Formats: sequence, C-alpha cells, structure tokens
Amino acid sequence: MLTRVKGGRVIDPANGRDGIADIWLRDGRIVDAPADSRPDETYDAAGKIVTAGAIDIHSHIAGSNVNTARLLLPELHRSTEARRARAPLSNAEWGTFQTGCRYATMGFTTVVEPAVAPNYALHAHLELADIPIIDKATLSVLGNDDYLLSLMRSGASASLVRDYVAWTLATSRALGIKVINAGGAAAFKCNVRQFSFDDVVPFYGVSSRAIVKTLQRAVHELGVPHPLHVHCNNLGLAGNAETALETIAAAEGLPLHLAHLQFYGYGKEGERGFSSAAARLAEAVNGAKSVTVDVGQVMFGQTVTISSDVLRQFNARAQASPKKWVIFDGDANGGGIVPYNYRSTDFYNAVQWCVGLELFLLIDDPARVFFTTDHPNGAPFTTYPEIFALLMDRDLRAQWIATLPPAAVAMTTLASIKREYSLNEIVTMTRAAPARLLGLRDRGHLGVGAVADIAVYANEADRAKMFRAASLVFKDGELVVRDGEVTRYRWGRALTVAPGHDRAIERRMQDYYSDRYGLSADVMTVPATAIGRPEPFEAVPCAR
Ligand SMILES: [Zn+2]
Repeated sequence: MLTRVKGGRVIDPANGRDGIADIWLRDGRIVDAPADSRPDETYDAAGKIVTAGAIDIHSHIAGSNVNTARLLLPELHRSTEARRARAPLSNAEWGTFQTGCRYATMGFTTVVEPAVAPNYALHAHLELADIPIIDKATLSVLGNDDYLLSLMRSGASASLVRDYVAWTLATSRALGIKVINAGGAAAFKCNVRQFSFDDVVPFYGVSSRAIVKTLQRAVHELGVPHPLHVHCNNLGLAGNAETALETIAAAEGLPLHLAHLQFYGYGKEGERGFSSAAARLAEAVNGAKSVTVDVGQVMFGQTVTISSDVLRQFNARAQASPKKWVIFDGDANGGGIVPYNYRSTDFYNAVQWCVGLELFLLIDDPARVFFTTDHPNGAPFTTYPEIFALLMDRDLRAQWIATLPPAAVAMTTLASIKREYSLNEIVTMTRAAPARLLGLRDRGHLGVGAVADIAVYANEADRAKMFRAASLVFKDGELVVRDGEVTRYRWGRALTVAPGHDRAIERRMQDYYSDRYGLSADVMTVPATAIGRPEPFEAVPCAR
C-alpha cells in the first residue's frame, strides 16, 4: 500500500530539510515520490509539523527494579484506584500496556530501557515484548560483576575483556553496555558507603576509573555503536560536579555517554552548601567533543526512584516518601526502590529543577545533550511535553521560576539564560541525534529507506499541548495514533547488537557458572523462541 502524508512542514534535520513537502511510505519504509502512481491513501498534514518518530535513550520501563516498584506500591495499582489521566508513580500504576500507549500518543516510537542486569535479561525482554506499538532496546549492566572485576584483578588481556562484553551483549540481547556507580556497588558489599572515581574496590583492587576505562575501551573496540553509558559515582551529593568533571576528562577523546547529568550538577556554594554547578559542567561538555550526555530533568510531583546504584539508594532511604523502600543486594549491582516527592517549595528540589534546564540551555549542541527525565527518577515520561515547552519559551520559564524559593534560584544561572530551543533543535535532540548515538541508521529521519516511523503534530502555540497528543503517528508505516488516541495496537521489536566473540569465552562462562552457582551459563541466554512471536529481535550492525 502506498501512503502519502501531504503538505506538512517536514522537519528532518538529519537530511537538512525544513519545509513544506509530502512524505511517501510503502511497506513500512519511506519511499521516493512515485512519478505516476496514485496513493492508496492520503493524510492531509497541511499546517502541521511532520517529523520522524521520537527516540528515548534512557527510560526505566521494564525489568526487575520496575516490578519491585510495583510490588512496593500496591495502593497505586489500577485495580485499587480509578486511574487518573496524569498519574504520579507512573511505573507503579501503569502496566506495560499503558507504557506503550502513552509513549505512542506523544509520537515516540523507540525507547531504550537502560539498566538490565544480565541475569534478569530474559524477564526484561519478556516484559518489553508485552509493551505494544513501540520498538525497544536494553542496555546490559556490567562493572560491579565478579567476573569482570576478577578479570581486571588478574590482569586479563583486553581481548578477553572484549569477548566477555560481546558474550554478555549476545546472551542478554542488548543494544549496549551501561556501568552504574562503577565499583561502588561491589564496594557496598564490604560496607563501603561512599565511593568516588579513584577509590578502589576492596578485594578486587581496581578503581572506578579503571573499570570505566576498561569497559569504554572494550565497547569502542568491539564497534558497538552506542558508547559506554555511564552512571557516575556520587549521584545526588553536594559537590558531585567534581565527579562528573573527572569522568568527562577521563573520556580522553573516545566516545563516552554520561547519563542523567542533572543528578551530578551540584556544587557546595551558599548557606546550605548546595548550589548549581551546571554552568561548569556545560562548559566541560561543550569542550569534550567525544562526550554525550542526557539530562534527567526533575519535574515537581510524586514519583518513585528506581536504581541499580544500590549504594546511593541505601543512603537515600531516609528520604522515602511515602515512608517505605526496598534495597536488595545481590549479584553485581543489586538495586533500590525509594518513592520520592519533588516539591517546588523545597530548596534542594528547586535547585535540581533549575540545574536540568541550565544543562539543556547551556550545552550548545542539541546533538550531544539528550532529552530524558531518567523516567521515573526525575519525573514520569508523561511530563516531556511540559519540558519541551519550557525549553522553547523563556517567558514560561520565568513564570515557573517566580514560584520557586528565591534563595534556590539565586544558586543557579537559570534566570539569566535567554536561549529558546527551536522546533528544529527539539527534533534534532529527540530524533536525529539519538538515532545516531544508538547506531540506528534507518531511524530518526525521514529520508528514503528509513523505517516509516512518523509523528505529525498540530503546530500549536501551546507546545506542551502540541507534544502531548500527536495528530498522527505511524509505526512501520501503520497508523497507530490519531488525534492523541491509539487507533491500532501492534507489537514492536527489540533492537540488539552482537559484535561477535571468540568461542572460547563460552567454555569459560560455562565453567564459571558451573563452579560458582552449579548452573549452566545457558541461564543467561535470552532465546528468541521465548518471546513467542516471529522475529522479535532486530540486529543493529556494529562497526567491526
Ligand atoms: Zn536511569
């Protein structure tokens, strides 16, 4: 079937386009305008904005931590309370089905779950497969695991580390590798309660820096498109901008992605010893061309923090609101679930809100600063439309700033920033750039041959309203949303990489799991047959 999306303003920065045009699609792909054939169907996009489907690189939507949050907060399940349109505690309240629908209605078509423990990968993929409409991918977490730290302690070769990383990617069906508080979660098992970039993990004798560098190099040398995804040490602490600056400097010209930088944007200035260091961080990011970041914007309201940074979550448990939490130790990272209420009247929360927006606005290149709330840690992903509006309108920002404690605002530069994002920059940040960062060459743009993932929006002055409910969304060429309502359910795929490894690592892993657990290493493998649908995975090519 040949479909024409007619006469909209096509914003496609990856192909240098911004102007009125038609987009043609056939068999799930974007095609050239045919010379003579008539479309089987036409959608009028006159006066509307036509973009590629949006891509979220970091949103916790599935897996063991998300489910522990649901278990912790049964009072918010849909069966016990009428579901509200804009609900807090999103992960607790929403099932997988709502996750897919809510993303799709905002025009998002691909979402990355960024923290899957390799031993829970099967569960994460089963749950992701239950999320309709959108495509998904996972990042597998390494860096506090006994096997890697033991390899490093024994001075294993770079090729052996590469094989282990490649084996993990293949068995867990991941798109990339993440490290969360490198070494800190392993040190936590020895009762360490604070862990910085040059601290050394007891028993293994390796520093956080060495773990990050080892994994960064392995991921790069394997040709995995997405660089090592780093959740730094010291999340949330006053003065932790130093940790982020050290980590940025440690990139040393090789690709490195820093997650939710807002949570590392804090200095120690002022009466309360808590201030924004966003300007310094933005300057460092602007100067480190191989480094990308996402923001992890905070928005006010109730949420639940979900993290495999078990050390940080353990330290944060006293702030739980409501007063209950789960901290679990286990292989490698463990995890922690701490409900939290960000309040606009709270000095610290107000500074956090400002820091996120400062980072967005002070980092020059919209292709190196990515749009996230670290869902649900900073805010549920349903707040994205409000954040787009804040980035695009300094008067709107001023209205919000006027409601915050002046002492908090004074510890930031936000009130002085005049920049407003253009629609083109928003599209770059949410489409073109994330596709490139993840190595998805046929996504994030509307060029011929691209996957026909398309979002069409009414060009409203109220940008939040515009982005909340897309006029039309196509997934693989099928219309799935009309006027902000899901019109068709379908099942997406999970995107993976498999850079290849020496088969000897398979024997090593069999021996390791047999010796350590009395299990076969096959327990780590996610078989395609487990999903129960044809072709549930799609391989993304590696550079090697
Ligand atoms: Zn996260």
